[in-house]
Amino acid sequence: MTLLTDRYERPIDYLRVSITDRCNLRCLYCMPLGGAVKLDHEDILSYEEFLRLIEIAVKMGINKVRLTGGEPLVRKGVVDFCRRLTGISDLQSLSLTTNGVLLEELAQELYAAGIRRINVSLDTLQREKFLRITRRDEFDRVWRGIQAAERLGFNPVKINVVVMRGINDDEVLDLARLSLHRPYHIRFIEFMGFNNDSQWTLQHYFSADEILAKLSKVGSLEQVAAQHTNGPARHFRWPDALGMIGIISPISHHFCPSCNRIRLTADGKLRNCLFSDQELDIKSPLRQGATDSELSQFLRASIVNKPEKHSLQPDVFRKCQSRPMVAIGG
Ligand code: SAM
Ligand code: SF4
Repeated sequence: MTLLTDRYERPIDYLRVSITDRCNLRCLYCMPLGGAVKLDHEDILSYEEFLRLIEIAVKMGINKVRLTGGEPLVRKGVVDFCRRLTGISDLQSLSLTTNGVLLEELAQELYAAGIRRINVSLDTLQREKFLRITRRDEFDRVWRGIQAAERLGFNPVKINVVVMRGINDDEVLDLARLSLHRPYHIRFIEFMGFNNDSQWTLQHYFSADEILAKLSKVGSLEQVAAQHTNGPARHFRWPDALGMIGIISPISHHFCPSCNRIRLTADGKLRNCLFSDQELDIKSPLRQGATDSELSQFLRASIVNKPEKHSLQPDVFRKCQSRPMVAIGG
């Protein structure tokens, strides 16, 4: 297997694929206030097109793929697509990030299709607050979905929490305590201020250090050695806890030097940095009959041109994002 590297010699082995821009929730921090402009159906890549690009990427050295969205589970045929992806022999890891609304009903089929690693977004344990954050009354279904995933043996079950001051920072400890008695990885993500949505101010940003300060009040956390984990999170656990706690701090402790990923959007654009608007259109050559070798040149070009780092600002998105998060995939 070849080692793919960018011009700063970072190994790139991880592709995040947004399979749809549609979503069944309307999270405050992800969807613009007025709703996101939806892609036309014909602009969204078919599963065959995704499969071809992913197979090419895997031949080039990508060995981890994560499906995201919008909400990946709302796209028809997602289970069958997962089954086809898990059949790619050199793909070592296929995972899914979901809001969990459809997880209870699909968990068994996803497991049978070979998915084992799942991230579920859940920012609160309070039903009313869930409604406020996501603008949909789906807390109970999401919670049942998480429990179904655990019962079926998904491992790890990770829970993504975006922490926003004044909205859910008061629940950091309650959410973290889930890791004591359940084998969940609770991952706290620094909130990234958005577009020009006037609802967000810098006051909503709650830093990783503030999260850790809250956690340390409960008892001393052990840092989990990096080799047992991967990705941008720093990991901790309380002694004897069944699960772990992750801190993802794109703003305050940037992980650009170890960034190993590129993204493919639902409309066939390669994005080489979450914080950059630089995109490379791979859909046009794909639909115009490009060969595998030509398409691999597009992937390589996107990788080579990965920016070295982003500018560290809590309101970084306000300045640079042309797309809302729902159209990128997180
Ligand atoms: N719908 C799926 C979900 O919610 O998990 C997958 C797509 S969502 C865009 C992927 C991740 O991005 C979620 O964990 C979400 O919490 C995170 N996210 C979205 N907007 C964010 C923001 N402004 N700051 C930090 N994380 C954000
Ligand atoms: Fe949908 Fe996920 Fe964005 Fe929430 S975070 S609006 S669930 S895509």
